[in-house]
Amino acid sequence: MFENLTQKLDKAFKNLKGQGSITEINVASTVKEIRRALIDADVNYKVAKEVTDKIKNEAIGQDVLISVSPGQLLVKITSDELTALMGEKAVPLSTDGSPAIILISGLQGSGKTTFSGKLAQFIKKQGKDVLLTACDIYRPAAIDQLKVLGEQVGVDVYAEPENKNALEIANNALDYAKKNGKKVVIVDTAGRLAVDEQMMNEIEGLKKGLNPTETLFVVDSMTGQDAVNTAKTFNERLDFDGVVLTKLDGDTRGGAALSIRTVVDKPIKFISYGEKMDALDVFHPDRMSQRILGMGDVISLVERAQQTFDEDEAKRINKKIRKNQFSFDDFLSQLQQIKKMGNIKDLIGMLPGAGKLMKDIDIDDDAFKPIEAIILSMTKDERENPEIINGSRRRRIANGSGTSIQDVNKLLKQFNDMRKLMKTMNKFSGSRRGLPNMN
Ligand code: GDP
Repeated sequence: MFENLTQKLDKAFKNLKGQGSITEINVASTVKEIRRALIDADVNYKVAKEVTDKIKNEAIGQDVLISVSPGQLLVKITSDELTALMGEKAVPLSTDGSPAIILISGLQGSGKTTFSGKLAQFIKKQGKDVLLTACDIYRPAAIDQLKVLGEQVGVDVYAEPENKNALEIANNALDYAKKNGKKVVIVDTAGRLAVDEQMMNEIEGLKKGLNPTETLFVVDSMTGQDAVNTAKTFNERLDFDGVVLTKLDGDTRGGAALSIRTVVDKPIKFISYGEKMDALDVFHPDRMSQRILGMGDVISLVERAQQTFDEDEAKRINKKIRKNQFSFDDFLSQLQQIKKMGNIKDLIGMLPGAGKLMKDIDIDDDAFKPIEAIILSMTKDERENPEIINGSRRRRIANGSGTSIQDVNKLLKQFNDMRKLMKTMNKFSGSRRGLPNMN
């Protein structure tokens, strides 16, 4: 997710490395590179220009504090501007109503049905009884797909395969929901490969007829600028309440996430990053901005671990990160949990600094085997206090794990870098956002 953008921004900030102060000249060249990086990531040109102009003005107006380098200052300003661009704060989905109705719109293949299943699970975890409703009246396969997902997440699915009137099906589903004590009804609708009048009329009719609590627009982030244009068209007709960005796990350049909010002035509410039912996050602009700037997103990582796995374990690790006591045992425990969540590379990217360190590794489950073997060859003491691992210990660990001393050295260095970054983030956690040390 956003790997290229992160790398290019990192390169832009490096321009300022070693510069003692912010001047119009050094800021102008850095800002130009930031703009190019954003445009390369498919951010709408106008949006990229606006945001970089703001960064420039903000930077030039500031005196550099003695303790903050120009590079750090510019990262902080960029982080704030990207956060503002993506909407500042997370906007929660409303599930109030009796029952609440969530209408799902979007093009065919954007990920509506998959998202409907994920959302059902997400709401169910909050303790509300959910009903999924299949209103794709054109593709019988879509009904089956929703039924499979419903079964997977343990949520009832309402469908009328013979009925060709979407609004009637949805209304019948509402009656069913009321009779059966369901608190939230998710209505999955039909899409087309491209925007067409019949589809728009149909979804518009559903919105008018159902008066949903929320209408969400699902869009495939891999479609780049098209995603923004489709969002615009849907918004003009539907005046939807929020956006769901899907397929952020793919080879996406991420520009849609950055420009959609500005262009349609509607919040991104969820991001989806895989086919598994757990691969869904509430969208937090500040966390996303930190990830884009390579600062990692430990908060989301811990939250995800809490959702999927042992809550106490996730809390314990979170506490250790905050106390600067993150050990190899914790690292191992996280690796093992992460492996269960799929899309490992993406998740590793949420650890501060780790994404950058692991960017060139083609990660699959096997990629962790040497790392696990190395950690398992360490003594308990070594895992807690990696500083004590001297030359002869390194040799012993390499032999024991069937790896080389270079492999052991590399892991120790990566771990050390990771710890340093966590420490830096902790130091800044009193301020709004943490800053990595640029110099
Ligand atoms: P719909 O036509 O809008 O209902 O789209 P589907 O939910 O059927 O999704 C279309 C395809 O995209 C399916 O193969 C899904 O498994 C896949 N898909 C959906 N969401 C994601 C995602 O976040 N990441 C990835 N990689 N694939 C996804």
